[in-house]
Amino acid sequence: MNCALVTGGSRGIGRAVCIKLAAMGYFMLVNYRSNREEAEKTLSLLREKGGDGVLLQFDVGSREEVTRVLGGWITEHADNHIEVLVNNAGVKEDVLLMWMKDEQWSQVINTSLNGFFYVTKLVLQDMLMQKYGRIINIVSLSGLKGLPGQTNYSAAKGGVIAATKALAQEVGRRNITVNAIAPGFIKTDMTEGLDEKQLRSLIPVSRFGEPEEVAHAVGFFASKESSYITGEVLSVNGGMYS
Ligand code: NAP
Repeated sequence: MNCALVTGGSRGIGRAVCIKLAAMGYFMLVNYRSNREEAEKTLSLLREKGGDGVLLQFDVGSREEVTRVLGGWITEHADNHIEVLVNNAGVKEDVLLMWMKDEQWSQVINTSLNGFFYVTKLVLQDMLMQKYGRIINIVSLSGLKGLPGQTNYSAAKGGVIAATKALAQEVGRRNITVNAIAPGFIKTDMTEGLDEKQLRSLIPVSRFGEPEEVAHAVGFFASKESSYITGEVLSVNGGMYS
């Protein structure tokens, strides 16, 4: 069975990505951290479209949980292969650097950057054996240009962008592509407190994006036909210059 793993699949962009990849025929491994109810909803939405999958609860920033839960699933399902990995789980803790607490720095870095490392390292082993894989990292406009109040988040996403380019060069020979998608303002819980009316003057398309518009780009990188595109960062931001 060909599987796809999406971290942070319980809500927002991750949910839309799960539905998209299920529609492409993948058995979905839907990861979440704590919101079981929303994760169940993702599963029922993708089942409504004829797909199927399972929930895997673990904190991507915890090596112990990643090893136990994801590593456990991989060991128990040696005949199934994770062909597509979407590193989507992320959090923000916006505050000016001079006021930033140590935990606010480390929580954001740990989820995006260490989470990328723990999960990718585990999943990559089978991709290398199978000589096929698609790794897609959800980064941010903030990681490309840096945004004030987000030094932690910009550093985390900028780190994942650099890691994307480095890993792409390590694994290209094995038909594994590694790309990143940098969304701008997308309508999810993460942007709930932002004023779309005020911010849309910054966006040429003049609105926030939908999670499905990011999922479309994930589907593009995940497809078998995207075999000669690797180490790229694709902006999905309504035309904001980045
Ligand atoms: P969201 O609506 O806040 O959802 C976050 C998801 O990540 C949830 O499924 C959450 O699980 C999961 N998660 C958070 N920390 C986790 C951890 N340590 N381990 C496992 N799962 C974890 O966020 P979103 O807007 O969809 O964002 C998804 C990704 O896109 C993030 O990487 C974000 O940085 C990036 N992004 C978003 C925007 C935007 O405008 N929304 C723009 C640029 C980039 P629970 O439900 O269990 O909490």
